[in-house]
Amino acid sequence: MSLLVLKFGGTSVGDVERIKNAAAKVEAEVRKGHKVAVVVSAMAGVTDQLIGYCRAISPHHDPREHDAVASTGEQVTAGLMAMALQQRGLNARSWQGWQVPLRTDSSYSKARIVDINVVAFRKRIEDGEVGVMAGFQGIANDGSITTLGRGGSDTSAVALAIALKADRCDIYTDVDGVYTTDPRIDNKASKIPHISYEEMLEMASRGAKVLQTRSVEMAMRYHMPIQVLSTFANAVGSELPGTLVTDGDTTMEENLVTGIAYTRDQARVTLAKVADQPGVAAAIFGPLARAGINVDMIVQTASDDGKTTDITFTISKNDIDRTKQTLEGERARIKYDHVTASGGVVKISLIGGGMRSHTGVAATMFETLAEKKINIQAIETSEIVLGVLIAEEYTELALRALHTAYGLDAK
Ligand code: ADP
Ligand code: ASP
Ligand code: MG
Repeated sequence: MSLLVLKFGGTSVGDVERIKNAAAKVEAEVRKGHKVAVVVSAMAGVTDQLIGYCRAISPHHDPREHDAVASTGEQVTAGLMAMALQQRGLNARSWQGWQVPLRTDSSYSKARIVDINVVAFRKRIEDGEVGVMAGFQGIANDGSITTLGRGGSDTSAVALAIALKADRCDIYTDVDGVYTTDPRIDNKASKIPHISYEEMLEMASRGAKVLQTRSVEMAMRYHMPIQVLSTFANAVGSELPGTLVTDGDTTMEENLVTGIAYTRDQARVTLAKVADQPGVAAAIFGPLARAGINVDMIVQTASDDGKTTDITFTISKNDIDRTKQTLEGERARIKYDHVTASGGVVKISLIGGGMRSHTGVAATMFETLAEKKINIQAIETSEIVLGVLIAEEYTELALRALHTAYGLDAK
């Protein structure tokens, strides 16, 4: 007998029939003798709609009230799921984040979990009840409701699993596992049976939104096994049909590259004719960091005249205006000629533990892109990642070509 946390994402609880289907999975696990806690997302599309309402009131609405609104989607599904379970003859009860309580800091819309007190929750589970926790939401010290960022129910589920000392956290979604790349972009993507936390963390943070990055970070820190699996297939989690995310090496160790991720929401900023002298990078990136702007890739062009140089870097597309403002404010110190900022770029990242011990990974990437006449605008490398920035229009072409080049296509 195990203690399992089962999380159902938006599509998995997209309508009443789907909630009933998810309840059947929960029942199957209970009948096998497992103790079960459930975490639910809002029904598909609901969170977008709620956020849309907030924006329609005002683009500059109060962040506290934003979370009061955005968190409600999960309240609905938690109640409906508890009812659906009761309908199957199970003992079940819904828990809002504040009822557990799942405590967070006060950074509205990206709150971080501080702690979860599961004493009461656990007691009821041990007595045979199924606890259904609303994902995505928590409560701050001052009693305000908070939310954990988009996709945050994954993090709620992993955090609950850790607090309950569960045996595993099963993330039920609309795909039957983690794939070598987003199966919606490349139909040759193949399912990865087993992936390490480290690789999954890179996949998630570089765009594979199948798991929220923070959920993987947390699972890695506490060694909580995660399984990603389909809500719409027959098997249930305890039959291990999905992708396991755990410590250690992947079963695809022989492959150089385990997966390919992409992030579309990038923008490229170029500062033209910046003085080529010590302290310039600090003058640029210090103020951006203080403004909370995340800078990703940085490229400095070799100086022609020894006096000035161009510096290019990437940021999230949403930060274009704030970046321009910040740089404008620092103009007297940085002394650049002009700044250009544009979207229309995508970052494609190859991820693989195998890169550590092999050479030639980069060469294959550059040759493959060159063959397709795709220009590389910036390059980033780290131990298990190789990332390039290219024009967004080539996303699919590049992804599919690289997927084939690294031998990842489904057999
Ligand atoms: P949920 O609503 O269940 O949380 P998400 O939409 O957040 O589901 O995540 C599942 C989606 O993640 C899939 O439908 C798929 O398109 C996308 N995805 C992106 N990259 C990958 C990948 N490498 N493997 C599997 N799914 C991926
Ligand atoms: N409902 C929230 C969202 O759409 C949280 C989640 O689904 O994980 O982002
Ligand atoms: Mg999700």
